[in-house]
This record gives sequence, structure tokens and C-alpha cells, in this order.
Amino acid sequence: MPGKSFFIDTTKCTGCRGCQAACKQWNRNAGTKTRQQGSYQNPPDLSTATFKLVRFSDAFSASGAQAWYFFPDQCRHCLAPPCKMAADKKAPGAARIDKRTRAVIFDSSVKISPADFKEVRDICPFDIPRYDEKLGGMSKCTMCSDRVSEGLLPACVKACPTGAMQFGERDAIRKMAEERLDEVQNIYRKAALINPEAVRVIFLVKDDPEKYHRFAARKADVDITRMAALKRLLDPATYLDIS
Ligand code: SF4
Ligand code: SF4
Repeated sequence: MPGKSFFIDTTKCTGCRGCQAACKQWNRNAGTKTRQQGSYQNPPDLSTATFKLVRFSDAFSASGAQAWYFFPDQCRHCLAPPCKMAADKKAPGAARIDKRTRAVIFDSSVKISPADFKEVRDICPFDIPRYDEKLGGMSKCTMCSDRVSEGLLPACVKACPTGAMQFGERDAIRKMAEERLDEVQNIYRKAALINPEAVRVIFLVKDDPEKYHRFAARKADVDITRMAALKRLLDPATYLDIS
């Protein structure tokens, strides 16, 4: 079953953080102590209390003008999630794939040691998993599976006032993303979808992904490092030749 997907069109994102606030509210995540970091981004990073974070970067566009780059970061719900492969070895049951939506779900009540968690986090190409020190488990975006199972939109999608975030059946979302890319490329030559074949959260960006966020896209060097780590984790019985 193809499952669900998101389409996040960053050309429509105004950085209002409605999605970020809605995520925190729906998941009953606590407020996060923060401070001015020299950026409007707030808080500074994802955490066990912040599953969705609008990253703010200012950089120079191709025309040389200074520009804002907004990136509503969250788990990509990878089609073949390396976090789950690692977690299955280190803490069985800590990560599973939801049968209906194909969301990658963490169970924060399943204990994992800090060292083993580091391996899970390091293997994620998008640097998403976070460690809950109180519970001794992992957490991240849930794809709002509780809402979706009741026929509701994820809280972040529902809250977005500009239509930058869409959610639905994967095939329809991929089609929507490709069609919007065609439109946007008429204006922005570098516009692209980020890793659409590999993830369920498909971002459209108008410029180089690294201008938005270091881990916006899978990078070849990151993949090599993280795949090497994955290789070490797998035992000979499940060895996968990914060299
Ligand atoms: S983005 Fe990271 S945490 Fe999310 S499914 Fe992919 S590997 Fe796992
Ligand atoms: S899908 Fe739900 S848990 Fe994930 S970022 Fe959106 S609101 Fe948060």
C-alpha cells in the first residue's frame, strides 16, 4: 500500500510558525526555554518537546539579494527508514511502521541507551530523532497518526494559513508536487523537490537545499558516513551490501 504523504511548498511558507505551535499543542508538548540566538528561529533546534520547527536562514539568492529561507522541518517518514533498521538491532519495538499510513512511529517507552540512541540519530539522513532523558526512549513527529486514523488532517497541515502544507494519499501528493514544481520552475530556475522518491514528506525549495538547512536534503557524504555506520550495525545474517 502506498500510504500517506505530505507536500510542503516552501515558496508559500511565510514563517508564521502556525504549524509549529499546532504541533506542540496537539501533542501536549511542553513549552521550550529559549533565548535570542541571532535569528528569528525559535527554539534553536528540534527536541523531545518540539517535533516541528520552522527553521529560519538568511542567505543570498542567485541574484545576489539577501533572502529569507523558511524550512518547516520534521521527520520525513522515509520509505525505507534507516532509523528503524538501526533501532531494530539496538532496541526492538522502539520504531515501527504504521500499517495504514506507513508513518514511522517511535515508542518512547521502549528504553534505549544513550550510546545506542546516538547510532540511531547518526544514521538518520535528516538528523531527526531526539532522546528523552526522562523516559530513556526516542521521540519525533508521529505523522499525527491519532488524528489521521480518525480521518483528520495532521495538526500542522490543518493550521497552515497559506496552503504551504498538504497531506493525502501518496500518489496524489506526488502528482501535486510535480505539477507545482513545473509552475515554480518558470520563476525559479533552481527549484526542486527534495528526495521525493525516498520520503513521505516532500519539500519543494526554490534554491539550493543547504541554504535552508544543513540537513534539508540527503547529502552524498552524509549518506556514505551514515551508511557505513549502518553496515556496522547489521549482523552477517542481515548484511546488506551498500558499499
Ligand atoms: S527522517 Fe530520520 S527519523 Fe524520520 S523516518 Fe527517516 S530516518 Fe527515521
Ligand atoms: S504531523 Fe503531527 S506530529 Fe508531525 S509535525 Fe505535524 S503536527 Fe507535529
